[in-house]
This record gives sequence, C-alpha cells and structure tokens, in this order.
Amino acid sequence: MLEPTKMVKEALIKRTHGSSPAGQAGTPSTNQAAQRASGASASKQGAASESRPQTGLRRAASDPPTPSSEKLGALMKGLQSWGTDEATLSEQAEREQAAENQALEDLDQYGDLFDSPKGGRRDGIISTNDLKAFSEGNFNRDAAREQLLDLGVAEDDLDTTLDRLTQSASYLLENEEVLNGLDVANDQRNRTDGRISRGDISREVFQRQLEQARNGDLPPGPPASNRGGYEPTVTTKNSERSPEVIAQQELAILEAVNSGEPVSFTNANGQTEDLTVRQINNTDGKAVYEITGADGHTMRIESELGASENRTALARLADYYTQIPEHLRDSVDKIEFRREPDDSAAATFYSSNDRVVFYDGLKHLNEEVFNHEFGHGIGYENDGLGEGVLDHVGQFFTGSEGKGTPEGWTDAIEADADERISDYANTNIKEDFAECWAAYMEATDNGPEALAKLEEAYPARYAIMEELYNGE
Ligand SMILES: [Zn+2]
Repeated sequence: MLEPTKMVKEALIKRTHGSSPAGQAGTPSTNQAAQRASGASASKQGAASESRPQTGLRRAASDPPTPSSEKLGALMKGLQSWGTDEATLSEQAEREQAAENQALEDLDQYGDLFDSPKGGRRDGIISTNDLKAFSEGNFNRDAAREQLLDLGVAEDDLDTTLDRLTQSASYLLENEEVLNGLDVANDQRNRTDGRISRGDISREVFQRQLEQARNGDLPPGPPASNRGGYEPTVTTKNSERSPEVIAQQELAILEAVNSGEPVSFTNANGQTEDLTVRQINNTDGKAVYEITGADGHTMRIESELGASENRTALARLADYYTQIPEHLRDSVDKIEFRREPDDSAAATFYSSNDRVVFYDGLKHLNEEVFNHEFGHGIGYENDGLGEGVLDHVGQFFTGSEGKGTPEGWTDAIEADADERISDYANTNIKEDFAECWAAYMEATDNGPEALAKLEEAYPARYAIMEELYNGE
C-alpha cells in the first residue's frame, strides 16, 4: 500500500505529465496550460523547500502563505482541475462550433459531392446513406476530384479538401441534433426524413449569414463579369456594382428572406423599391425563391446551386429586375440556375412558360445576359400573336416574321440599312431584337448621350424600343 504522501506525489506527476483530461484532449493550447501549471508547481515547490526562508519577512505582501508539500499537492490539484476544466469547456465549445460551421459550409459549397458519393446521377438530396458513404471514404475519388476542380478547388488542395469533407460528413452523423435541425429546416411540418435538400441548407445558411452580414463580417459575393458593352455603338463604363453595393444588396436579400417582410432594395442606378424575397418550402433537390416587386409581379427562382451562390444570384437578379419598367416585368416569370454548363448557350429563354435557364452556375449571370434573355420575353409578349398554342407552332418557324419580336421589327431592320449591333444579332431577327434590347437597357444606365448614340445608329429600331420601354 502507498503512503499518503506518495499518492499525492503520484497524482501530481500524473497530472503534470499528460494523462489529465487536458492532456488527453491533446490540443496545443491545453498542453500549454498543463505545462504552465506544471512549471508553476515546480517553482512553488522550489520556493517552499529551498530558496525561500520560512521567516516570511522577504515575502511579498500578495504572496500566499507557504503551504506544506501535502497541502500544496491538494491545492495544485484543485487549481489544475479548475483551470483545465474551464479551458477544456470553452475550447470544446469553440471546436464544436467551428466543426459545425465547417460541416455546414462544406455541405453548402460541395453539396454536389455529398449528393452522389459514387459519382452517379445527382438529385439535390443528401441522404444519411450519402453521408455514411462519404464518411467511410466509400466514394468515387477520381470523380470527386474532378468535381472539386470544376468547383474551383486548386489541384494541390484536392486531397486535403476531400479529407475535410469526410470529417464534415462524420461530424454530421455523430451530431444528430445538428443533422436533424438541418433536415427539418425547409420542411412544412418539421419532419425528419433523413433527406437534406438544397432548400434545407439554404434556410440554415441564410439564417446564420444574416447575423454575419449585419456585423459586416460576411464577404460580399463575386462581381458579375460583363462582356463590356456593345462597342462601338454603346460604350459602357463598367456598370458592375462595387463590393460595398454588393454587400448592401446581399444584406437586403438576407433580411428579406429571413423576415418574410418587404425590404427597401436599392439597385445600381440608385433607385429604391420595396421588394419581398421569400424562400418557398420545397423538399425536392432545388432551392426555390420568389422575388416580388412593388408592382406585385412575382419572379420565381429555382436553383441547383449552394446557398451562398443563391444569395449572390438573388442580389444580382433583384438589381437587374428592379431596372425593368414595371409594365414589362411579366415577360419573364421564372429563372432557373443549373450547375452543368451548356455547350452552346450561356442561358436560354423558353417562350412556352416565360422561363430563363442559366447554365454553369453563376458564370453567365450578368446584366447583359439577363437583359438579352428578358428581351426575348418582351419580344414574345409584344409580337401581336398572343400566348398559347401559337407559341408551340412558333418553334417550327424560328426567325419567322412576327414571332418573338415586336411588330414591325423586320421592317425596322431594313429601314436601318440592315446594320447589326453585334455578330450574334445576325443569327436571326429574334436575336437581333434581344441584342438591341440589352444594348438599349445598357444605354439607359449610361445616360442621354449613350441613348442618343444608339438612336443615331439604329433610328427605326430605337423608336420601337423607346415605345416599349415607355409603355406607349
Ligand atoms: Zn438570345
């Protein structure tokens, strides 16, 4: 049997050599805490037994009375357990929060990888089985690396990123509360169905980002890449918004989605409008939003992208949409964002349901492409042929007079001596109108001089666009 003093000694040695809870936790900071504590105990022991005389005369007033070695052991034990418990608690909470944030960020940014670990078809749903497969490393590594490259991860970072995604999957599986919170975020009746949709992730991410955006801690999304105008007819300044304006607009979007109430939104032209932006519950693979302007028209947005990308997309769309005269806004009812690129198109307008599809994520979402596609919508609304069955018939007569362009457009092209505003405008008369409309919208951004230049170059077509814009 051990002597009591020996037991105390051993307890001290144990504590100061890494088998305390702090030592087991194994983070550098807790080890440092243990080392500091062990150093302190050594010097105090030293002071007690050697260098300090027991007279107390030279002792500083603030020093505690020198304890006996037995008492010292108990005191140190108390001090250490108080110190390490405190440190372990706050550090654990921090680590926990960091892991949770990382897991959510990874789900949002790399949801496509989790969605289909074996590299098959993606449905926009991350199931518990998907997470399990990922956490066990049971995924198609080559396909995953390819996907990461597509998503902009550098070649050198592929393996560390994949390792981190594996950890994030494990974290979610081990933390049911976080997982279930995500699972029900976007569901109508708080159902835990083991399926995390893009809508679930969006709901959760938008909630967290609102706080960050209010504190100015949320980096604004990337600026759009404009083609650079319709030179030489419409010379544009770079009309893309500054990072400050982007941050302001994205904050407005987050406020709107989280509150469900109208917010005051200021577009790049300085015009302010009350906008409602809602996230619509939707348990299939897409995140769904609706932007409703002051005139009451609603534009629906269905996205295969992550929440942060959607935040950027919604701010850009709101910026461009609020610049469209109210009487023309019902020309487009729905916008879709697809992850996959299209070989031949940046975006496509479908006349059968006034829908625009953007390909390759946010790559082509800028004011010019938006106005070009919106222009197709305006062309169909104003071709004098109405809606319905004729839309379908029209598909067989691409480029035919009257279909998809405002009345009189072909004559106007002729009157303007068949001058074209861009190469693409030569494709057919519908593209000619869409290109002219985008240039017209750009000229309205750039002021009277730009409009005058456009009118001078294409007077007949300019007259038609001016009537449309003014609602005459
Ligand atoms: Zn087009």
